Amino acid sequence: MPASLNPRYAVYTGTFDPVHLGHLDIIQRGSQLFDRLIVGVGINPEKTTLFSIEERVELLQQVVQGIPRVEIQPFLGLAVRFVREAGARIMLRGLRTLSDMEYEFTMSLTNLALDSAIETVFLMAKEEYSHISSTLIRQIASFGGELDKFVPPLIKSALLDRVGERQHRPQP
Ligand code: ADP
Repeated sequence: MPASLNPRYAVYTGTFDPVHLGHLDIIQRGSQLFDRLIVGVGINPEKTTLFSIEERVELLQQVVQGIPRVEIQPFLGLAVRFVREAGARIMLRGLRTLSDMEYEFTMSLTNLALDSAIETVFLMAKEEYSHISSTLIRQIASFGGELDKFVPPLIKSALLDRVGERQHRPQP
């Protein structure tokens, strides 16, 4: 475990099931603020996801290609522990709405109690992305709605493939 944490390194964690334009905007802007931005893709054995951890990591790697100083890594367990193991001092989060604020406020206080060396830094979502969530995108995809405004083309086709596979799977 690194002894000192670099204040110029940040970690941005999430489920990214799938990654969308709101996430990408935070990654893009975060990459301009820090020397290194590690995107931590959460493995949660209790949560069912549309895309496996390997797929989520792979899709993220593809959509961040060309953004300097960004790397993608899977992680299991406490986010603050992952931040510390990465040698970073900053946990980067995106804020969409007032309701996000309540949750994020509690989370950042909890994280501070768990590891007082790690600070949470928030970036406000751009207005055009502030209503986007992965949950909403999965629903739109399953009902055959228009996805272009929410996800890059690569994610759109991965979503359509996955939803198609599920809809054509024989029912037990
Ligand atoms: P997901 O489950 O969609 O991956 P998370 O809830 O795990 O998202 O969020 C990962 C991070 O991305 C959080 O900091 C969250 O606030 C941020 N985020 C999610 N959606 C947006 C958005 N539309 N714009 C900006 N930040 C966002």
